[in-house]
Amino acid sequence: MSHPILYIPGPTEVDESVLAAQAQPMIGHRSAAFSDLYYRLIEQLAQVFLSKQHVYIVAASGTGLQEAAIRNAVRPGRKVLNMVAGAFGDRWQKISVANGCHSQRVDIPWGQPIRPQDVENHLAAGGFDAITIVHNETSTGVISDVAAIARLVRQQFPEVLLLVDAVSSAGGVRIAFDEWELDFLLTSSQKAFALPPGLAFAVASDRMLERARQVPQRGWYFDLLLLEKAQNSGRTTPTTPAISLLYATERQLQRMEDEGLENRWARHQHCMELTHAWAQKQGLSLFPQPEYASPTVTCLRNDRHIDIPALMQFAQQHGCVIGNGYGPLKNQTFRIAHMGELTPTHMLRLFAWLDQYLAQQP
Ligand SMILES: *Cc1c(COP(=O)(O)O)cnc(C)c1O
Repeated sequence: MSHPILYIPGPTEVDESVLAAQAQPMIGHRSAAFSDLYYRLIEQLAQVFLSKQHVYIVAASGTGLQEAAIRNAVRPGRKVLNMVAGAFGDRWQKISVANGCHSQRVDIPWGQPIRPQDVENHLAAGGFDAITIVHNETSTGVISDVAAIARLVRQQFPEVLLLVDAVSSAGGVRIAFDEWELDFLLTSSQKAFALPPGLAFAVASDRMLERARQVPQRGWYFDLLLLEKAQNSGRTTPTTPAISLLYATERQLQRMEDEGLENRWARHQHCMELTHAWAQKQGLSLFPQPEYASPTVTCLRNDRHIDIPALMQFAQQHGCVIGNGYGPLKNQTFRIAHMGELTPTHMLRLFAWLDQYLAQQP
């Protein structure tokens, strides 16, 4: 009997060989063996993010690095602009407030992307050290054009650092950190990277580290300068790393390289297209505008007034776990993720079960 397959936007399916990699014996994190492992992972991750700048791996979920971003990028008396178009944009705002960082929140209707023109007027008011963007808003299934926003910010607001939550997109879609001139990008292990939860990955620009030097209180656990120092001087981490998860990461980055990043991105895109086609056939519309629909998670409107919990239960009984709508969108929408390990075959298997349930509905 196989286990229930996760079609939820995290945690996602993890390949058996990746799970098994965690069972290797421990090594000391001040050993040469550890340094070799760690450095290889940093270099491979840099390739995934298309960056030659500073990559970090921390033992935390992605949210930890959202906190790191705010703490390291915003100087006292300066502000952060949080663009909120869903639950994870709202988290940027909550983290800013909880850290005593002056912030301005801009609400965009849920289901809409964040556009350069939404950002421009607000930044023009001045006083900002950073802007936060969620690349792929998992609660609404919307992907925003971060490259376009970055072009605007870099050209018109050189002081403003661009902090990007790419938790549910990195590894599943192309993100070119250096080419787009981003300043901080963070992601979690348990989404499109298809690893167990517990690690978070980041890339920081030289500009970001330069800024951190001007922020007197950056916290300790997520102080980028401390992470950078441990990496440069000892090829290690300041505190004990999650060694088992790093073994899993080693295996998974190899699998991603074997598949090829372009192929991986194309597979996510293809699974999205299959999901859209299925939804259309079933008379269910996309929550976002189609041109901003996420390649990793589809959010569907419950146009047919389906009993979503009952649909989810039926799917679960047949070994498929799907997601309800997030927060206020619960039962009004539901979500099907197509990230990480999921293939067209997985998607078609899910749709066959959902078709069976919906065939009994009015
Ligand atoms: C899942 C998610 C998060 C939170 O990540 P954790 O790893 O649970 O901390 C943040 N942002 C987005 C876009 C997400 O999808």
